[in-house]
Amino acid sequence: MVLAPLIAAFKIEWGIYLSSTCRLDTKEKEVVLTFDDGPENENLPELLDLLDKKGVKSTFFFIGKYIVENKEMVARTDLAGHNIGIHTYTHAPMLPFYSVKRLAHEIYLTKHLIKSIINKDVTMFRPPFGVTNPNIAYVVYRTKLKSIGWNIRSFDTVSNSDEKVVARISKRLKAGSIILLHSNIKGAATLAGKVIDEVRGKGYKIVNL
Ligand SMILES: [Zn+2]
Repeated sequence: MVLAPLIAAFKIEWGIYLSSTCRLDTKEKEVVLTFDDGPENENLPELLDLLDKKGVKSTFFFIGKYIVENKEMVARTDLAGHNIGIHTYTHAPMLPFYSVKRLAHEIYLTKHLIKSIINKDVTMFRPPFGVTNPNIAYVVYRTKLKSIGWNIRSFDTVSNSDEKVVARISKRLKAGSIILLHSNIKGAATLAGKVIDEVRGKGYKIVNL
């Protein structure tokens, strides 16, 4: 079973190396929407408008290198009352294989960037690709961040049908679900609107972390 540790590292809910919050500790019909991979200025403005219109507060996990080019979007997201968390600086595919030093640099750089814009200390981290390993666990522990996972993956980045994404989420809804969506995809606002309507239609309240 040589593969077992490798697979375990990729399954965030199992919490093998790093315990991540993957659901709210509640029996109430409450769920959380989270949006990864921003900020950018093509899809995020429309998404923020939509969330505002629907009266929904969410958590956004931003990537450092995109923050540099879209500082005003970080400020706007914060001003709208959403949470901002760290999603590393580069989101590089090789990130799970980075050294502790390199991972710490990714996190500190992003943390300082966010603080320089919104003057708040970021407390939440989401591991790119949901991958955790001993190095990532160590850095998250040392930087006193709280790792946030999910228990409903929407597959919004690979699906070409909003209806399929909504149906997938709908089928998996439970008290305290944390739903993973992306803020940087075309039609992010339209999809979010459909998800919100579906979730509320099933009697769930959307809360924030
Ligand atoms: Zn990501």
